[in-house]
Amino acid sequence: MSMKTATQALEILLSQAKAIKTTETVSLQDALGRVLGQDLNSTVNVPPLDNTQMDGYVMRSQDVPEVGTILVVSQRIPAGYIGHALEPKTAARIFTGASIPEGANAVVMQEDCEVLGSPDAKGVNYQIKINHVPKVGEWVREKGEDIREQTVILKEGTFLRPQELGVAASAGVTHLEVKKRIRVALFFTGDELTLPGHPLKPGGIYNSNRDTLIACVRALGCDYTDFGIVPDTLAATRATLREAAIEHDLIVTSGGVSVGEEDHIKPAVEAEGQLDMWQIAIKPGKPLAFGSIQGSGSHPTWFMGLPGNPVSSFVTFLLFVKPFIGALQGRQARIDPHYQLKADFDWVKPDKRNEFLRVKINQEGRLDLFPNQSSGVLTSAAWGDGLADIPAGQAIKKGDTVRYIPFTQLLG
Ligand code: AMP
Ligand code: MG
Repeated sequence: MSMKTATQALEILLSQAKAIKTTETVSLQDALGRVLGQDLNSTVNVPPLDNTQMDGYVMRSQDVPEVGTILVVSQRIPAGYIGHALEPKTAARIFTGASIPEGANAVVMQEDCEVLGSPDAKGVNYQIKINHVPKVGEWVREKGEDIREQTVILKEGTFLRPQELGVAASAGVTHLEVKKRIRVALFFTGDELTLPGHPLKPGGIYNSNRDTLIACVRALGCDYTDFGIVPDTLAATRATLREAAIEHDLIVTSGGVSVGEEDHIKPAVEAEGQLDMWQIAIKPGKPLAFGSIQGSGSHPTWFMGLPGNPVSSFVTFLLFVKPFIGALQGRQARIDPHYQLKADFDWVKPDKRNEFLRVKINQEGRLDLFPNQSSGVLTSAAWGDGLADIPAGQAIKKGDTVRYIPFTQLLG
């Protein structure tokens, strides 16, 4: 079997995934981390009217030909109020966010004006000396400069972060049509596994992938069902697959994808559905199983089997499952951050495979390397803040530039 590169594997995954169509309506408060299900139009302009960016005085710029011009203050306009048309050769006292009165076209900030005399009981009828000649439009925020009415402000497929929710709110929207959550079923193979909270059996280890992978799918806005630890038998693996295929869009498993006699994922998925076993030329995470199982719905349930080693399953989730889920969610593809950073380490014995090393950005903005890069050492990922993508066979010297993939990608 020929090995695939990470890029080839990802291309196949993305070409197979079909975005789900079903949507639901949720409030803005519940929309964080969801994917927009239809284009959002604005019915309003933001801001709705021209307004001032500064506390100061609003006037006609043509009434201020030179520094030192004196104008009478004829009205006072706090934020939230509409003034009346500005009489020529006068200024209006105005406060940040207040609408520009008809006839006026520029604001001079209060720091550039000197108050001469004192206001009357209504706070007007005093003179100001203007120490700055304003240009037309100075300190004026134009009506619709942020959002124009009857335009699309958020596109279908947008992953909703806090700032997108704010944009929707600024257009007066309270609810959004979002894609239904992708339903992910997870299970974990390995007779050696014990759930945290229980005493370890002799020869056992705690199941760490469960918490890592559940947190990963939750971070991507998915619903999940945990089918727990599945014994290393063909019958148990097949039975769990059948159950997991019902009412889920995707099954994610860890372990059992090698070709040892205790590895039952391959024959089990082949028996219940379709499977491609991939050897991907990456380290960690060489074996990856990709397939589908007919479930309850009109579409088969996708299957992705990750290797069992904790770093391998985390890294393959980041590289393959995350983009696959994004495609199922119908997420508009953002260009994945593609940072080119300098290594602060030497990597003298490169592997034949493309390596993804756990690294951390240091004070100098360069990458430090975790000393133990074994695929069983999950503390490397907790220590690090991302992966350095080292091409197959390429030695790295301090100061060389490498591609850096931040773990924060997992969260959106
Ligand atoms: P496997 O892919 O099943 O051959 O497992 C590879 C290695 O990962 C073995 O050392 C397993 O004990 C370990 N492993 C498998 N599943 C898990 C898990 N859920 N949590 C922690 N370690 C695991
Ligand atoms: Mg195993």
